[in-house]
Amino acid sequence: MIAGNRPINYLRISVTDRCNFRCQYCVPSSPFSVIEHKKIARYEEILRITNLACNLGITKVRITGGEPFVRKDIFSFLEKLCAIDSLKDISITTNGALLTRGKIEKLITLGIKRLNFSLDTLDPSKFARITGRDRFQRVWESIFTAHTLGISPVKINAVVLRGINDDEIEDITALTLKYPFHIRFIEYMPMGDSAVEKEQQMLTQEIMEKIELKFGKLMPVKRTANDGPAKKFQIAGAKGIVGFITPISSHFCSECNRLRLTSRGTLRPCLLNNYEKDILNPLRNGASDDELKQIILAALTKKPSFHGLTDQSIKDMPISHMTSIGG
Ligand code: SAM
Ligand code: SF4
Repeated sequence: MIAGNRPINYLRISVTDRCNFRCQYCVPSSPFSVIEHKKIARYEEILRITNLACNLGITKVRITGGEPFVRKDIFSFLEKLCAIDSLKDISITTNGALLTRGKIEKLITLGIKRLNFSLDTLDPSKFARITGRDRFQRVWESIFTAHTLGISPVKINAVVLRGINDDEIEDITALTLKYPFHIRFIEYMPMGDSAVEKEQQMLTQEIMEKIELKFGKLMPVKRTANDGPAKKFQIAGAKGIVGFITPISSHFCSECNRLRLTSRGTLRPCLLNNYEKDILNPLRNGASDDELKQIILAALTKKPSFHGLTDQSIKDMPISHMTSIGG
């Protein structure tokens, strides 16, 4: 599949809009409702859409949410997903709180060897403030269990917010001296009405300056096939990598190879643009495989060449919050 001149081979599947955490930067600050169960795509529906997308050239899938592991029977879904021959790479983004040793072992048995964890702080009380849940130790344990069981790379996503965790950039980076983790600092994206203010957004340039002041020059690392949009570096003597995801300061739209399937069964060609194409209702109304493939291709024709987010005021964003789209 091609959108503009970009080959599209990566599908991000959000299996749920529900989450056991309430991260300040992710969920709306005002009360919100979750999607009715009957409107959420069932596993067999997601698998049919994924199979068709694979026929059209998708080879890589990431499972996300909400929190993927809050959805019932996720492992039986993952087992069927892993059985799709043409999928060469399946990974999961998780907050890690529900991942026990047994579950990580199961993932490895299924062939899932790459996990991204979200961890914005190394301070348990700050963790509770950011996520709304007192679960730091649990998440920390999951990350280390994944590491000891051979998940590689263990990626850790940290959204940096001024006045919240910007004083920990150096400590989080220092994890790469001890462990082969890939730390990825993510620029806060203004989505929906989160409690985060514009002044709290920290861009990559400033984050890099703080790191270089403490550890010296960041050395660029050669890109590999599974890199995605992160710009990767190492500090001297490090076992791990520090990456920067820069949707705001340096958008990577021209390289974006992604299509998203939301838990409501809509196709979303761009995270930061509200255009979505319904594929679930046509599927439920009896559309043929060919008709569904046409819907996938039609969605891709709407993939914008640039998300435009930097041009708008943070409070005017007409964009849904992250849990409802899938991060
Ligand atoms: N619950 C899982 C987790 O937290 O990893 C998966 C879903 S979460 C929406 C996926 C990623 O999106 C997380 O790494 C999170 O930090 C990131 N994220 C959420 N809201 C964001 C925002 N407003 N700006 C930048 N990243 C955000
Ligand atoms: Fe949940 Fe992940 Fe959003 Fe946090 S970032 S509220 S863990 S979906």
